[in-house]
Amino acid sequence: MLGVLKEQVWRANLDLVRFNLVTLTFGNASGLDRKRGIMAIKPSGVSFEEMIPSDIVLMDLEGKKVEGRLRPSSDAPSHLELYRAFGGISGVAHTHSEYATAFAQAGHEIPCLGTTHADIFHGAVPVTRALKPSEVRKNYELYTGKVIVERFRRLDPVEFPGVLVVSHGPFTWGKDVAEAVRNGLLLEKIAKMALLTRLLAPRGMRFPRSLLDKHFQRKHGPAAYYGQRIGGKK
Ligand SMILES: [Zn+2]
Repeated sequence: MLGVLKEQVWRANLDLVRFNLVTLTFGNASGLDRKRGIMAIKPSGVSFEEMIPSDIVLMDLEGKKVEGRLRPSSDAPSHLELYRAFGGISGVAHTHSEYATAFAQAGHEIPCLGTTHADIFHGAVPVTRALKPSEVRKNYELYTGKVIVERFRRLDPVEFPGVLVVSHGPFTWGKDVAEAVRNGLLLEKIAKMALLTRLLAPRGMRFPRSLLDKHFQRKHGPAAYYGQRIGGKK
């Protein structure tokens, strides 16, 4: 069932390794078939090198396993909460990539300091609140998803395709699993650039709002003009 989706999710999980975003098994990516309401996700604790496409686990949006002989990633409830809350996404990636995780551990949003950042995030990369002890005890992974959704009450997940869960690490998403992983890589790069920029110029240069809007809007939204248009005139 859903062989193509399983293959895409398998490949995207290997990309997490190829992009140097994971250490050992600390990372996972999932994809969603929104029409069927089925998520495909990495199995729990299986090494990336040994994993094969048929190891990918299928679950419905309520968290019931519908196919697979292995247990799903323990972070599956966080992924499912994001799919339930953000209707426009069909891929999620979670890593402990070093620079983004450093910002998450510092409880520090990633300020937008240049156009690389503005091409993907329409402002600073947000940070969640800390989980309450009762949330950690009750259903840690589900509440990890819930604090992300809470942080996005007034933010558009399309304009901000990722978040830092405080004291933990980044989650990114996209229209499919490949885009979620690419956004994870870009988030890591902009975290590194922001840290280096602040080292060179602790008080920093102000990044103008006009440049932020320009760079974001030329790649996203109705006025986008970056790249090739399929079937378009120019
Ligand atoms: Zn984690």
